[in-house]
Amino acid sequence: MKRLLAAILMFLSMVAPGRTAEATNVELARTISIADVHMHLYGGKGSDFYLTRMTENNVQWAGAVGGGPKDSPLDIKSALGHKYIAALGQTEFFAVLYTAGEKGLYDLNNPIFKNLFDQAEQAFQAGLVRGFGEIHINNISPFSPSRGQRKIDLTSPVVLKMFELSQKYDGFVQIHTMSNSGFDQLLSVSAKYPRVRLILAHCLPGAMADEIDELFKKRSNLICDLSATGPIHKNQRVYSVNGPKKEWIDLIEKHPTRFMVGTDPCCGLDDQYSGLISEIREHLLPYLKEPTLRAVANGNARRIFGLR
Ligand SMILES: [Zn+2]
Repeated sequence: MKRLLAAILMFLSMVAPGRTAEATNVELARTISIADVHMHLYGGKGSDFYLTRMTENNVQWAGAVGGGPKDSPLDIKSALGHKYIAALGQTEFFAVLYTAGEKGLYDLNNPIFKNLFDQAEQAFQAGLVRGFGEIHINNISPFSPSRGQRKIDLTSPVVLKMFELSQKYDGFVQIHTMSNSGFDQLLSVSAKYPRVRLILAHCLPGAMADEIDELFKKRSNLICDLSATGPIHKNQRVYSVNGPKKEWIDLIEKHPTRFMVGTDPCCGLDDQYSGLISEIREHLLPYLKEPTLRAVANGNARRIFGLR
């Protein structure tokens, strides 16, 4: 009897390697409109290139992490209109890092930041933008390009100024930080600015599902972007070609209003945009229950960014 049970278990593990749930919503996941909340234009290809890829892949809205080498977020906004989620600050954050070093990222009097905040207030007032991103706080990792690496405090006066403005306009700040920075500053800043949706790019690299659960239980304004957590980024922290890990499906179903998807076509991946969308449609979304799938694919982003 014991031997039979062992044989059955062995057979089951062979037919479903790593599979943790059934992909029950394949058709909906293949066709639903997607909001891509981590679309860079780093590769210098410009708005037209991305608009074509978005249309081919039924991505109705995208952006939320800043502009590219040719176009500012507001240039891209005027090209893509309501489809583009403009986010300010990334270009300036890099420019100050490269000219003044890490300490420059604490200096509100740096002329680059002064100029940013002057323009930001006008853009917020005009309704062209509702937030800042992707702001790298701690990106020290073997997977990040070494030139832009830094580890600073989330409580830098420059970063807090972004939260202040976003709080005034019910906006967002998308940050890239690692779980090894600890959670104290995340908790204090999210409490201080409760109207700001604090979006954790890549769902806080390094964090375990139960750590995200604890953060979400403590703060209702923390949100995860699931970009760069699958196979093409060679990461697979959340999902692989066999589907999402069980602890991540459980987490997403437990907090269905707190997750969004993104491609992060950085680092030479712009030509793989369609593949990045396909892996979300094939290996992540179909494993979610229908209402959760709809929320993660676009509903949460529509609510958070006021998309139409
Ligand atoms: Zn990014």
